[in-house]
Amino acid sequence: MGDDRDRWRIKPKSRVSIDRLDSRSTAGAPGDKTVAQATCGALRDELAALQERLYAEGERKLLVVLQAMDTGGKGGTIKHVFRGVNPAGLSVVAFKAPTQEELDHDFLWRIHHKTPGAGMIGIFDRSHYEDVLIVRVHELVPEDVWRARYEHIRAFERNLVDAGTTIVKIYLHISEEEQSKRLQARLDNPEKNWKFRAGDLEERQCWPDYMAAFDEAIKATSTAEAPWYVIPADRKWYRDWAVLQVLLETLREMDPQFPEAVEDLSRVVVE
Ligand code: ATP
Ligand code: MG
Repeated sequence: MGDDRDRWRIKPKSRVSIDRLDSRSTAGAPGDKTVAQATCGALRDELAALQERLYAEGERKLLVVLQAMDTGGKGGTIKHVFRGVNPAGLSVVAFKAPTQEELDHDFLWRIHHKTPGAGMIGIFDRSHYEDVLIVRVHELVPEDVWRARYEHIRAFERNLVDAGTTIVKIYLHISEEEQSKRLQARLDNPEKNWKFRAGDLEERQCWPDYMAAFDEAIKATSTAEAPWYVIPADRKWYRDWAVLQVLLETLREMDPQFPEAVEDLSRVVVE
């Protein structure tokens, strides 16, 4: 079984410049858009089957962290990739700007109790990484404070792994030009207006600062046990296919098993 994941995985101590990776790439795709989309049906079925086993096994858990620039497609990815998976085995948590109570605690406080429990797949739409991204870009805390968080994050994730969590971190990589198109579409299409925030334009002004923040954060925290995958995401069909590959290869490797029946069922008769 080939391992496509390596194509997108950022190795520990990698020197690659994330921003320079091609966000329009379709490398490794099974064909063009139509072919890739047709392939995704079977991939989704397999994802659903593996999720059911994970749930039945009821011990380990999978945490999927999604990060991206605005319009990067976190929402679309969740919608398309997990379509078909039993919602009972999924938890999706969107992390917004912290409340006062959350700010009164350490940055991982609000994150930890949202991590997936036994048998679950947890999806983080934004995450603790905001605390080294937006927080850094807008200087919400001093540099020595956010810089120390790389180590806190590595230790936190190691703790989750030791407690039976497999961690997959995905950065949906779009270009500045693609973001411009998508923001314009949000303005032009009345049904997408609700997604538009004037603040998105201000954030866009900080594009180079965000790229620097992503680049350093990803490299500082892509470990063997909690790797980052940088998925070219300008083409939505490729993004969905690639994310499905990463999740499937991760779950195949986990190889969750249906538990043995607790009782001897061979003599049980249903009347
Ligand atoms: P969409 O991508 O669909 O627009 P969203 O995730 O951007 O959804 P919004 O409510 O638009 O949702 O934005 C949430 C905002 O909260 C983002 O700007 C994000 O950077 C910010 N945020 C998240 N976590 C933190 C944090 N720890 N500190 C400061 N800001 C944060
Ligand atoms: Mg937003």
